Amino acid sequence: TDLNRIRNFSIVAHIDHGKSTLADRLIQLTGTVAERDMQAQLLDQMDIERERGITIKANTVRIEYPAKDGNTYILNLIDTPGHVDFAYEVSRSMKAVEGSLLVVDASQGVEAQTLANVYQAIDADHEIVPVLNKVDLPAAEPDRVREQIEDVIGIDASEAVEISAKTGVGIPDVLEAIVTRLPAPTGDRDAPLKAMLVDSYYDSYLGVVVLIRVIDGVIKKGDKIKMMRTGGQYPVDRLGVFTPKMKDIPELGPGEMGFLTASIKQVRDTRVGDTITHEKHGATDALPGFKPSQPVVFCGLFPVDTNQFEDLRDAIEKLALNDASFSHEMETSAALGFGFRCGFLGLLHLEVIRDRLEREYDIDLITTAPSVIYHVHMRDETMVELHNPADMPDPAHIDRIEEPRIKATILVPDDYLGDVLKLCQDRRGIQQDLTYAGTRAMVVYDLPLNEVVFDFYDRLKSVTKGYASFDYQMIGYREDALVKMQVLVNDEPVDALSIMVHRDRAETRGRAMVEKLKELIPRHMFKIPIQAAIGGRVIARETLSAMRKDVTAKCYGGDASRKRKLLDKQKAGKKKMRQFGKVEIPQSAFISALKMD
Ligand code: GDP
Ligand code: MG
Repeated sequence: TDLNRIRNFSIVAHIDHGKSTLADRLIQLTGTVAERDMQAQLLDQMDIERERGITIKANTVRIEYPAKDGNTYILNLIDTPGHVDFAYEVSRSMKAVEGSLLVVDASQGVEAQTLANVYQAIDADHEIVPVLNKVDLPAAEPDRVREQIEDVIGIDASEAVEISAKTGVGIPDVLEAIVTRLPAPTGDRDAPLKAMLVDSYYDSYLGVVVLIRVIDGVIKKGDKIKMMRTGGQYPVDRLGVFTPKMKDIPELGPGEMGFLTASIKQVRDTRVGDTITHEKHGATDALPGFKPSQPVVFCGLFPVDTNQFEDLRDAIEKLALNDASFSHEMETSAALGFGFRCGFLGLLHLEVIRDRLEREYDIDLITTAPSVIYHVHMRDETMVELHNPADMPDPAHIDRIEEPRIKATILVPDDYLGDVLKLCQDRRGIQQDLTYAGTRAMVVYDLPLNEVVFDFYDRLKSVTKGYASFDYQMIGYREDALVKMQVLVNDEPVDALSIMVHRDRAETRGRAMVEKLKELIPRHMFKIPIQAAIGGRVIARETLSAMRKDVTAKCYGGDASRKRKLLDKQKAGKKKMRQFGKVEIPQSAFISALKMD
């Protein structure tokens, strides 16, 4: 294909601003899918994505568009994830295309993820076409939002396209803008093959499907290819494009995007950002910018029913085959038995995986407190990466502890600014910037990731009634006065409740935790001390008093069926309990105890 007749682009937007709906419209208008096959949000494949209305993996589709100039163009659209957890996937998909449509909901305006995503597009040197969506809504203010795009983002929005992805108004203008305003790709057909590995996923029929963007050279079915980073070599079985159905084609040349299959066994064998070349006469240097995505949030996943451990193992291994950014290793906990320590890109990623395990594999799970990776520098100058507070080395040998910090950007209406500042301050944030765009404030904070992973989003949503938007990026590690806090129930440490905490906040957190636990743990026949401690020093203590009489006593012995019912109810309740020493702790306590409110 003539390079001048190709346009590769992505759509960037804040969540819910209409990216998927616009993609559907573009596909529909160009007749890429027969009307009867059209279902809303074609590109959102997984059920969970659909239910939550989010797009997780990057997807791609090839559209043929007969333009007003009389030529037919090939438009390759990449649908990128809109969520902060997947920022790395966004940044690498951006490098595979030359332009972006910046979709902004004209009734909402610019939000935190609009900024984060558009900056990624700017970093990737994209030409950007602003698109104002939802102009059918009475609350739409396209003029105000156009100005806001210019003020806040600093790009020209005078020729922003006004559309309604819902009604279809303006869609033909978007297609013309793609052709006339976005640049054609460049590349050399005669150079050695260089194709970028944009994404991959596991398909139970086809095995691993790899999404590629050809930079130079030509790839054909049957070619022997080599992954330049991993060294893997494979013959290409199938080559094709998504229309969005898979359609085989004989070759892909410079500027083109498509997929290949090559008897690759696991998604893990394909590194996103890797360079694919020919085994013989291949390219000598790989494309720049490769970096594997690393899990940043860790937690333990344990089956509520210990008999489900093997089921959990199978399920986790299956999910891991399809998700190279999700890590797992076996873990045993005195309180919870056998389970897995799992690593995720962020909290949403954690939730998605946990949901899938519970729903698709029908396993009830206990999730322990999410933790970040601490860098523990020892006196002997070695460094330990701590993923689990339970593995904390002896403090006597520790020189210092560093924790990951983030730069958080929050956009919020004026009225809630005070609450947001307080929340960030409470979470050990350092304010970096505060600016206004109309009646919305934009605050930038340097925050410890540790203080954000647990319930920051929830708190932010509740203090702002859902009006704030939030985005973050990692900025690096910094030393702080961090300690491990343990919880002892009946004088025994419960490692699933251990957390890393700043020394100045330890007492408040400790007190809150023991108070919560006192409410969450049912009374036993004996008195139970509940303590929070740092090293050997107790910093908070509560005592759960003993149960006075048998609970069945109040049934007076007379009503046998009532007594049985009560006993049955207790038994059912037991299933959700974990025996710990002589004490039973309910499953729900492991998460509830950690909530800060
Ligand atoms: P995404 O998160 O950016 O992919 O957003 P979606 O495409 O999933 O859209 C979010 C919500 O906005 C959905 O309920 C859509 O039906 C709705 N929506 C999208 N475009 C429009 C539009 O032009 N007008 C109106 N009124 N609603 C829209
Ligand atoms: Mg979407």
